[in-house]
Amino acid sequence: MTISETRDKVLSGELSLREIVEHYITQIESKNVDINAYVNTDFDAALSRAEEVQKKIDNGTAGKLAGVAMGIKDVISERGKKLTCASKILENFESVYDATVIERLRAEDAILIGRLNMDEFAMGSANEFSNFGPVKNPHDHDKVPGGSSGGSAAAVAADMAMTTLGSDTGGSIRQPASYCGVVGLKPTYGRVSRYGLVAFASSFDCIGPLAHSVEDAARVLDVIAGFDERDNTSSQKEKDDYIEAAQSPNKKIKIGVPEAFFGEGLDEEIKKGIESILNELEADGAELVPVELPHVKYGIATYYILATAEASSNLARYDGIRYGHRADKDEMLDELKKEEIALKEQFELAEGEDKIAVQEELTKLDSALVRLYKKSRTEGFGPEVKRRIMLGTYVLSAGYYDAYYGKAQKVRRLIQNDYKEAFKKVDVIVSPTAPTTAFDIGSKLDDPVQMYLNDVYTISANLAGICGISVPAGTHSNGLPYGIQFVADSFEETKVLNAGRLVEMKVS
Ligand code: GLN
Repeated sequence: MTISETRDKVLSGELSLREIVEHYITQIESKNVDINAYVNTDFDAALSRAEEVQKKIDNGTAGKLAGVAMGIKDVISERGKKLTCASKILENFESVYDATVIERLRAEDAILIGRLNMDEFAMGSANEFSNFGPVKNPHDHDKVPGGSSGGSAAAVAADMAMTTLGSDTGGSIRQPASYCGVVGLKPTYGRVSRYGLVAFASSFDCIGPLAHSVEDAARVLDVIAGFDERDNTSSQKEKDDYIEAAQSPNKKIKIGVPEAFFGEGLDEEIKKGIESILNELEADGAELVPVELPHVKYGIATYYILATAEASSNLARYDGIRYGHRADKDEMLDELKKEEIALKEQFELAEGEDKIAVQEELTKLDSALVRLYKKSRTEGFGPEVKRRIMLGTYVLSAGYYDAYYGKAQKVRRLIQNDYKEAFKKVDVIVSPTAPTTAFDIGSKLDDPVQMYLNDVYTISANLAGICGISVPAGTHSNGLPYGIQFVADSFEETKVLNAGRLVEMKVS
């Protein structure tokens, strides 16, 4: 059921909130063992919250999301609940405050039933880099659900939540939505407050909904969007009527079609499927306009310089002292002592230049504090996060900064300009969401570049800061769903919702 159908039933008394919450509890209890979408649940809290909201329904003061049971990606703070980012380094960390989006959802009476699996610190495209183990695609348990919001997409697809929140830094809402056959909306940067979202790459990160329908996504966006003084990149711009855009879409829109996004690497069947949808939209009055995005081919390279640079800085806070996992102090002191003794023995035996070299090593020996940082981080971070920190530190280091980081900033601007130019001519730009359908679990794990290429169509929207949506576009002959993506200029969420709804009306 959609949010509005549920709400009607709840308000008319046909369904009680307890029944709704119990439905999802049953679903989670029977399916989560296999799918692994939830990493934590609190059913008692959800049931008692259902009672509170039921009272509001009964006395006519229910909020916009009364009746909506939601799961939250484990990267968004909910006070008193664990906030792990699917990392060992935060495995015992509990949020001390609510994210703005959580406050807003609660204020409108959403019921939050659990925390969703993800790639560690939202780094990944397959939800395989999680301390809790991989999430499985509900359509085929041998396939990945996409990432990093794999739990958020799988939970919706498997009816383990009515809608969920994910985060999108380079495609992590839209790509899993495509692989799992649900709707995923990445708002404009600054449209939804990031207060309480654990930072990965701060100039890219966005919170947004995953849902069964475009209208549901619009309803969640309507609640979470808007200025927040606690996030100084939050926009003061008034929000628009997202629900109206999803309910009464205009058919006479101008759709930009970039050749760059329909070329090599794209699955033939997905390409044909999207082209045939576009032909139908055209027959209904849409205008298809070729557009050029000459710099998007540098999107992946640019993103993996800038996002890793930001990540290496953001993740410096996990030092084992202020947050999360701390290595065993005695073990660490012991190791340090042993190294020192070994070096001192070498020093005694060495001669000439060797002696000088050993002496130098002795002076470079970590202090106990530095060693504790290193050991805590070595134990606490997984392999992909370490790779990002190393890459990011490298591109920011003296001597390489201008060649990589500085250059990537300039290319980011060129990509933004490409979109600005294109949006002078069109309302939205269309593309596939991902080049293929969901792939086999484990098949890209030892090839990071292949993994990174999954985001080839989603990443440039984050570089440009604009909004985008992925809507189910069809089922491949391999039985798996795939999505179509629309992006629009900053703060034009109504346009992507409009276009997304047009597709939904054709496909379903
Ligand atoms: N897959 C991309 C990455 O690994 C994007 C992740 C995201 O959007 N959080 O960085």
